Amino acid sequence: MSLRALLMTRIAQTGPLSLADYMAECLLHPDYGYYTTAAPFGEDGDFTTAPEISQMFGEVLGLCLAQAWMDQGSPHPFTLAELGPGRGTLMADVLRATRHVPHFRDGAQIILVEASKSLQDKQRRLLSTNSVTHCASVESLPDQPLFLIANEFFDALPIRQFTRTERHWRETQIGVVADALTRGLGPELPQPVLAARHSETRPGDVTEFAPSAAPIMQEIGRRISDFGGAGLIIDYGDWRSLGDTFQAVRNHEPVDPLATPGEADLTAHVDFEALAMATPCQTSRLTPQGIFLERLGITQRAQSLAAGLRGSALESHIAAHRRLTHPDEMGNLFKVMGLSPEGGTPPPGLDT
Ligand code: SAH
Repeated sequence: MSLRALLMTRIAQTGPLSLADYMAECLLHPDYGYYTTAAPFGEDGDFTTAPEISQMFGEVLGLCLAQAWMDQGSPHPFTLAELGPGRGTLMADVLRATRHVPHFRDGAQIILVEASKSLQDKQRRLLSTNSVTHCASVESLPDQPLFLIANEFFDALPIRQFTRTERHWRETQIGVVADALTRGLGPELPQPVLAARHSETRPGDVTEFAPSAAPIMQEIGRRISDFGGAGLIIDYGDWRSLGDTFQAVRNHEPVDPLATPGEADLTAHVDFEALAMATPCQTSRLTPQGIFLERLGITQRAQSLAAGLRGSALESHIAAHRRLTHPDEMGNLFKVMGLSPEGGTPPPGLDT
């Protein structure tokens, strides 16, 4: 049985799937899901994320969180959490960069929120010299100060997608036509959850939202509000969702998201406004990744690493710095939103 066959049978039995149902099955089906079965990250995989491009990314983010922790009086114990850690590279870089920050490491309870068992194993292996705990959802995070990173996590959450009509909305659905998975539009219906979008969209406009994002923001924001802490959410997207951003990537190339269920990475741009609205803590101004990393001193770090490199190693190091920061590369497409307690100082590099 393949995931395609399984989805076709399900559609035949119970009707078309929402995009969210389709995405959830493709990414996290226990036997066939992309994150549960594949090895997606890095040059040999399907896509490369910022921590896989250079150790500098995790290093400056780690020091940013450690500074936020010191700014709040170095609370002890605290949770150092990452949502969707992939191979675990980012957390490994965070831990290495912060090892000399007094009491940071011994006060930290490291918790990785990861839905895929096979990625949990990979992360455990990479971080084996540290004591790390896994949980499958943010609800299990302890009630204590929370310092958290989420890089390219929210873009992997399943989305529902709607097309505006004159009066209401039609939801994108996945059905079967002529023995192929096919995208279509469901019936025209009012969507109370999109009420706020009606006045500023026009017929034909497409909007998306990730139903599971708000409860996650609620859970982490409550801990940061009640116990202190900080969050760094980094992803591609913008303030308010507009347009069809559902996409699939395989072998570093865009592909048809319906062509190979479970074998391509499926994502959508993150609607940061929706994340900010859902969280009870303070959110920073949305800041382009390039500007944020520059403010944190990535160029100084790059120069000091460059001093020990020659030839092609030096060239790829310079290219990695450019890739992370330049507006034509990831610098502008990726955005950072900081979380902090209401009225508190936002994490370094960000402002309210
Ligand atoms: N942050 C990593 C990987 C991003 S890919 C990096 O920057 O390299 C998305 C990650 O989120 C994967 O580890 C995936 O398994 C995990 N993930 C996706 N949906 C999830 C969910 N609902 N709950 C927990 N983890 C999830």
